[in-house]
Amino acid sequence: MYGLGILKGLTVTMRNFFRKPFTVQYPEERVAQHPRFRGEEFTWYEERCTGCASCAKYCPLGIIKIVTHPGGEHVSEGQEYAIDVFDIDIGRCMFCGLCVEACPYDALFMGSGFEEGQYSRKDLVITKDRLIKADKKPSTWFRPQLESQQYNSQSESPVDWENAGREPWPYHMPVRPQSAEESLEQGEETK
Ligand code: SF4
Ligand code: SF4
Repeated sequence: MYGLGILKGLTVTMRNFFRKPFTVQYPEERVAQHPRFRGEEFTWYEERCTGCASCAKYCPLGIIKIVTHPGGEHVSEGQEYAIDVFDIDIGRCMFCGLCVEACPYDALFMGSGFEEGQYSRKDLVITKDRLIKADKKPSTWFRPQLESQQYNSQSESPVDWENAGREPWPYHMPVRPQSAEESLEQGEETK
């Protein structure tokens, strides 16, 4: 009786012994990731962000913290705030991507990484400085403009802010400081 059970068990072992394994020897080997993979750390383009906080409002977990003040370059036109704080607590993130869907300016993208082991929970808060310094290798999730270019963050170069959006957006162009004459002319026009 016992002998038959052992024989059956060995048959399963032998059958799988010669099969190609599904697993890989991580971290030496890695499986290919899909370009739409929703990972950390988020790709954020400061140049495209108006500080509207739509992403923070749509996050069901309330883990995006944005603090702004009316001091942005285009604030006189009501277009942009200066961003003091932009924190995402990825320790609590479920990577649903609703914040990315909610961003009307293509400023926020899901990231393509997945290795974020930290000793402390507070180190899982991705700050504005960290977002600025991060490699701009966005996931193509919810971004048809990147999908149509067949962009793959695993094999291709970073995407800069000018090429990240669905359409050219003049408010995102860097502002050239106005000369005194230009300011006067503008003042005359608005009188
Ligand atoms: S992916 Fe989802 S849970 Fe994570 S910050 Fe965005 S909206 Fe919040
Ligand atoms: S990332 Fe997008 S949604 Fe969030 S504040 Fe900036 S522009 Fe608004």
